[in-house]
Amino acid sequence: MAVKTSDDAGHFRHPLYQTLLESPGLTVGTAVLDDLMTWGLTNALWMFPMATSCCGIEFMAAAASRVDMDRMGVIIRATPRHADVMVVAGTITVKMAPRVLKLWEQMPEPKWCIAMGSCAISGDFYRNLYSVVPGIDTFLPVDVYVPGCPPNPEALMAGMIRLQEKIRAERKGEFKQPETNPALLKISNPSVPRLNDPARRAEQSHEQELSAHSPTEDEATPALEVSAGPAPDLAPLTAPDFEGLLKELGVTELPKDGPPIIPLAQHLALARKLKALGYRQLVTIAATHWLKGKGRKGADEAEPEHFEIAYALRTVGKGSHVAAWAVRVEPGQPVLTLSGVFAGADWQEREQYDLLGVTFAGHPDLRRLMMTENYVGHPLRREFPSDAPAAPWR
Ligand code: SF4
Repeated sequence: MAVKTSDDAGHFRHPLYQTLLESPGLTVGTAVLDDLMTWGLTNALWMFPMATSCCGIEFMAAAASRVDMDRMGVIIRATPRHADVMVVAGTITVKMAPRVLKLWEQMPEPKWCIAMGSCAISGDFYRNLYSVVPGIDTFLPVDVYVPGCPPNPEALMAGMIRLQEKIRAERKGEFKQPETNPALLKISNPSVPRLNDPARRAEQSHEQELSAHSPTEDEATPALEVSAGPAPDLAPLTAPDFEGLLKELGVTELPKDGPPIIPLAQHLALARKLKALGYRQLVTIAATHWLKGKGRKGADEAEPEHFEIAYALRTVGKGSHVAAWAVRVEPGQPVLTLSGVFAGADWQEREQYDLLGVTFAGHPDLRRLMMTENYVGHPLRREFPSDAPAAPWR
């Protein structure tokens, strides 16, 4: 269709049109179909919310009664196939980015994208964090940037008005698209092939399943072997039960500045024993890296570089208790995996492996979890520079 604006109407010549114009008492309105379509398009922009953090709250407020984006024909749709505009409101991490891209690809053309807030625009103060994408335009084409931390709902509405202006200009052929840098459009694959991901090997699921249910015999430590018998009593424990177990391991002193450190050889057996006694939930596995001469409060200056890996379990149910302990290893020294005792240890150990480089012997699938597979270094190690150079996806 030829693009005509209503300004052209004064020069329009047609016998019927002239007759109508000259008829007394008749008012004639003219319009170009393309203008009508543009009007309809720009006033019915349905939004797909990609709200992840604080900016998402402002986004929600924009849809509420005070600002009421519905006035502009902006309807929020929770499905990409019905939406015209994706609003990315909040921080996007490296792991989320491929999913955001997938949702974007599920939106039909024509479609537009608004980056709402500093995090979506540039990563903001998380920009140099190992896990945050430094701006969504590293993998998505952004049409309008709405600055602020967070931008208020009115700012989002202003952004929508700018988007309407841009669409009008585009339809008139007056908008010049800025050049995109193809290198920025690349995004690393997620490091974890999820269920249904073609990159995920079938054996991987199988191995994980096996490891969650079938601890091998030689992992057990006879001194603390769980005796066969009736199912363990899952009643809440009292704190002395855990202390008693620690005493069996020769740990009599309970430090105030962290969990007690137990002998490395007893670690797996302790976890099994605790699970049998009712500590059935693995709360966390968290490692800390200490450089030479550093460590817990009062550490000896000659103390060599080491890692402390802390574990916390919890009894399930009313009045639950927590049992926490730690093991200490030198760089490169492995710790036995707990993935055969607690299925949830699988990814928590992978996380510590990824971020600190601690290895877990017997883990069925020890790969990076947060960072891309080709990432060099471990971002939670002490020597890792806080102003580390550009992340590999830039
Ligand atoms: S820009 Fe500010 S308000 Fe928005 S998600 Fe980031 S930190 Fe939160």
